[in-house]
Amino acid sequence: MALIVHKYGGTSMGSTERIRNVARRVAKWARAGHQMVVVPSAMSGETNRLLGLAKELAPSKADTAYNRELDMLAATGEQASSALLAIALQAEGMESVSYAGWQVPIRTNSAYTKARIESIDDQKVRADLTAGKVVIVTGFQGVDDAGHITTLGRGGSDTSAVAVAAAMKADECLIYTDVDGVYTTDPRVVPEARRLQTVSFEEMLEMASLGSKVLQIRSVEFAGKYKVPMRVLSSFTPWDINIDEEAKSGTLITFEEDEKMEQAVVSGIAFNRDEAKISVLGVPDKPGIAYQILGAVADANIEVDVIIQNVSKDGKTDFSFTVHRNDYARTIDLLKDKVVPALGAQEVAGDAKICKVSIVGIGMRSHVGIASKMFRCLSEEGINIQMISTSEIKTSVVIDEKYMELAVRALHRVFELDQPAA
Ligand code: ADP
Ligand code: ASP
Ligand code: MG
Repeated sequence: MALIVHKYGGTSMGSTERIRNVARRVAKWARAGHQMVVVPSAMSGETNRLLGLAKELAPSKADTAYNRELDMLAATGEQASSALLAIALQAEGMESVSYAGWQVPIRTNSAYTKARIESIDDQKVRADLTAGKVVIVTGFQGVDDAGHITTLGRGGSDTSAVAVAAAMKADECLIYTDVDGVYTTDPRVVPEARRLQTVSFEEMLEMASLGSKVLQIRSVEFAGKYKVPMRVLSSFTPWDINIDEEAKSGTLITFEEDEKMEQAVVSGIAFNRDEAKISVLGVPDKPGIAYQILGAVADANIEVDVIIQNVSKDGKTDFSFTVHRNDYARTIDLLKDKVVPALGAQEVAGDAKICKVSIVGIGMRSHVGIASKMFRCLSEEGINIQMISTSEIKTSVVIDEKYMELAVRALHRVFELDQPAA
């Protein structure tokens, strides 16, 4: 008998018919003798619908009181889907109970709309499991010390599931979604993308942080920290598929390099349209400039990603960096109001129509020439590179948003990602 956590995403919970299928699949696992904890997302479209209603009444703003209400609102999506799943399981003859985050409780900090899980009390869930029940725990939400409902950021149900699995020392956390695993890149953009049988934790962490929305990055961080065995697989197979076959399907996240692992130099391509580029032009080239610009941005709680500073000409230089698109206007205003006058810079320029495309692979550690192969591929497609950023296992470029799909497809071809690795 094992303790297994299943997570079902929005599409997998998208209608009563699909919820019935989830219930049947979970009942199959429970009847095979496993203790089951299930973490559902809201029904697909529901979180967007709810947040859209709030926006109709008042546009989003960096305001704690407003964000608190957004969490109060958005958390209802998961409360509804969790109760529906418990009802569907009961209809299948399984004893089942659902809990909202605050009932477990899943404790978080108070960073509304992007809260972090701090602890999970597993007593209640364990007692129910011992009593033979299937336990449903809402994804995406928790409760802060003051008792306010919080949410974990978009895609946060992945993180709820892995955190519950870690807290309960589950034998495995299965992330059921609308694709049958982690692919070399988003299969919706590149139809030739190939499913990976295994992906290393480090590569998955990079892919998630660079924009692959298949797993929320914090779920991968949790899995790494607590070594939670984790697999991404499809909820669209027939629910009565052989359980042993199902348990081996999809993509396994691995923590150690082993011989069976695919040995590609580049294992995947991630892309992200969520950033915007900002340049401070004509900055005097002297010590303290980066600090004066980025210090002011950090003080406003704005996260910076790629940064470049050009060599100076006539004692002046240009300084560029990217921020999340939601922070674009705020960053420009801040620089214009405070930083440019203080620095004696010429002007601030920005471009929100950019994207970041990244190649990822642990093989990049031991191979040279991978980045130059990427740059050659982009130049042959006539795509101008605006910024570059590298780490041991990734190279990212910032390019014009309109070339994103072209770049991803060309890179996928050049690195032969449609072919199984040797
Ligand atoms: P869920 O609602 O189940 O959490 P998501 O929409 O959050 O599902 O994540 C699954 C989607 O992630 C897929 O439908 C796919 O389009 C997208 N995706 C992006 N990159 C990848 C990748 N490398 N492999 C698989 N899917 C990916
Ligand atoms: N329902 C939330 C969202 O749409 C959380 C999730 O689906 O993981 O972002
Ligand atoms: Mg998701």
